[in-house]
Amino acid sequence: MLMLKENFLAWTRAHEWGAEVEVSQQLANGGKVEVWDSGVIVFTPAGKPTRDLVLSCAVHGDETAPIEICDALIEALKQGQLTPQARVMFLIANPAAINNGTRFVEENMNRLFSGAHSKGPGLVNKERVRAEALEGYMERFFATSPPSRERIHYDMHTAIRDSAHEKFVVYPYQNERPYSKRQLQLLKAMGVPVVLLNDGPTTTFSYYSVNQFNAHGFTVELGKVKPFGQNDMQRFAAAQSTLTALICEADPELDRFEHDDFMIYQVLRSINRTAEDFELNFPDNVANFTEFPLGAVIARDGETEYRVETEGESVIFPNAKVALGQRALLTVVAIPAESLELV
Ligand SMILES: [Zn+2]
Repeated sequence: MLMLKENFLAWTRAHEWGAEVEVSQQLANGGKVEVWDSGVIVFTPAGKPTRDLVLSCAVHGDETAPIEICDALIEALKQGQLTPQARVMFLIANPAAINNGTRFVEENMNRLFSGAHSKGPGLVNKERVRAEALEGYMERFFATSPPSRERIHYDMHTAIRDSAHEKFVVYPYQNERPYSKRQLQLLKAMGVPVVLLNDGPTTTFSYYSVNQFNAHGFTVELGKVKPFGQNDMQRFAAAQSTLTALICEADPELDRFEHDDFMIYQVLRSINRTAEDFELNFPDNVANFTEFPLGAVIARDGETEYRVETEGESVIFPNAKVALGQRALLTVVAIPAESLELV
């Protein structure tokens, strides 16, 4: 049996995926750690698990802070400094892109879930092969979990651009089910009280866990991309301590739910690039959630001009360089938290 290497990140870098390794090791506290593949590591507590938690990072390989957060938690669990009460699976999603120091090697992995990896050209590149493998690990992880147990998946990211809200979460489409008060409270405890609601199915990792496993899945944006070692980890302290509580405590203490604690955004429009001749009518470095005045032209797609139609319309995730047919921009508008259907 192979032993776990001392430094997990070094180990991840040394192997890219596909290495024929599977490791299992008892922990001093009676729990168990298993490595199912490069960057796929599962901790099982000694007693009955309180919840099933999936923490994924590096779906975009250059988004370093979430990798450092996962690495620190993995080390603390491995060394026995933390005793898990939850089952927790860490997914270092795209080791090849980490090794490359880039967002992705060939294709944006966060458009490849819910089977999208095998559509179109099929499993033709590393991201597609890995996305399919990650779905398999999710299935294996949830196969032994009773549906009544709390299931949470945080797919953690950092953004390329500045944001008027440093941290925010994308709450995937819930297939017409209501949103969860408790999950919002947990997100607030993580320092992420700004929520963008997705209004339909997507091919993101977090929607996959919502749709496939009925998990509380979220794309969590934790701030701006910095190189390894240059992240101010103080900025992630609330996220780290809440994740630690979810791993180690049966019932983490939460603030009372107050609508006013949250900022909720709804998608107004998704603007796709359909023409070669496409441009965004604002600087490349505009911050996410920047608001534009009524009537302002925000994008031109060939002959089509997109103007602001709604008071408070703000832009998010702009990227004029996407492939033809892909989303170049979302526009959003704030709505009162009271209007959400919550359970
Ligand atoms: Zn990302």
